[in-house]
Amino acid sequence: MKPSHATFESVLLRFSLFSVMACLLGLTASSAHAQEKAAIHIDADFPGGNILVNKIENDTITLGPDQRDSVLTWFYWYYRVRGASGRTLTFVLGKDNVGVRGPAVSVDTGKTWKWLGAEAVTEGTFAFTFPSGAEEVRFSVGMPYLRADLNQCLARHKSDPFLQVESLTKTRKGRDVPLVRVRDRSKKARYAVAITSRHHCCEMMASYVVEGLLEGALANDPAGLWLRANADFLFAPMMDTDGVEDGDQGKGRAPFDHNRDYAAVPPRYAEVGALKDLLPAWTEGRPLVFLDLHDPALRTDIHETVHFLEPEERDMAARMDKLCAFLERDQQGPILYRKAHNLRFGSGYNTHIARPSPLSAGWARSLPNTLLGCTMEIAYANAAGCEVNAHSGRELGRDLAVALMNFLRDSPETEPAK
Ligand SMILES: [Zn+2]
Repeated sequence: MKPSHATFESVLLRFSLFSVMACLLGLTASSAHAQEKAAIHIDADFPGGNILVNKIENDTITLGPDQRDSVLTWFYWYYRVRGASGRTLTFVLGKDNVGVRGPAVSVDTGKTWKWLGAEAVTEGTFAFTFPSGAEEVRFSVGMPYLRADLNQCLARHKSDPFLQVESLTKTRKGRDVPLVRVRDRSKKARYAVAITSRHHCCEMMASYVVEGLLEGALANDPAGLWLRANADFLFAPMMDTDGVEDGDQGKGRAPFDHNRDYAAVPPRYAEVGALKDLLPAWTEGRPLVFLDLHDPALRTDIHETVHFLEPEERDMAARMDKLCAFLERDQQGPILYRKAHNLRFGSGYNTHIARPSPLSAGWARSLPNTLLGCTMEIAYANAAGCEVNAHSGRELGRDLAVALMNFLRDSPETEPAK
């Protein structure tokens, strides 16, 4: 086959009507060359996939995120390209849909990811030369983390006696919602620590931090040993499991998203209802730390940092400061967290208007035995100059485990455990 310009013989994806028309036009325009190039397939028909193709013109493809039921315009997308070995294609996503280190790219079917780099992107457009022989390359706004990734992490520890994997509940679509416990079953721990994430399903970078924290709690290092002797951990790492697997935005779902379900009576989403039932019973009145992990927006100011959202309650705010001081002081990982980046209550988007109460952390703070309940935000790609990726995210989780140990060990609210 000879190389030529406009040729896309097949493009398989979830088409909007406009996409279908654009594709058909593309096929018509390319018909003279129809047999000259290998077929290129673009699709999102795999776990976490999300894309709309709006226009195809020669080797330039205009795409965008599929908003689905989100009324808030958001930026999550994840697609694969097959049949483009050796070719250079240009992808137009729009400047609001590509982060500050460019798209994440995977050449091993989503197992590992790298940022393409800021220099590769202009106004949300990037070109990519497909390696010769590459059968499939995946692109995403972030580094997708799915149930299979969590399973892989859990499989590494499957013989660990301190790990228990359960199901929080079933989703509307019949999927198990993962619930992971870390505890020493031979004793009743003094503290309870609950970690949630993916209330907004697209916020995948938070999952690497959760994974690091989980592994920190299981580790045979001083922090892991102390934590297991003194705290029971409960992880609900995929609070919108259907959204994670289906590749939804999740943020700003109509009529409200999972993190805004804590005020609903009864809750709209099974996961939220199940957690609200389980958590108070599970703590049995023990002092509780509840952290809900998120990713913010893609770029600028506060969104390019790791930051905590200060609770309105002064006692909780003071405890959050303490946890954060330990994190800043003892961190070892590549992401340098700075306490000064935290968003004080009443500033930026940390207000009652932007965050009507109670969200998940606010609900946790309403429980009588809660020491600290707050939200932590992990930048998608750039944390004040530090690259956020799978490795640095996990390392931040390990640092968080150490900070939790110090926080609990130093907690004046209860007698320190021996
Ligand atoms: Zn969020």
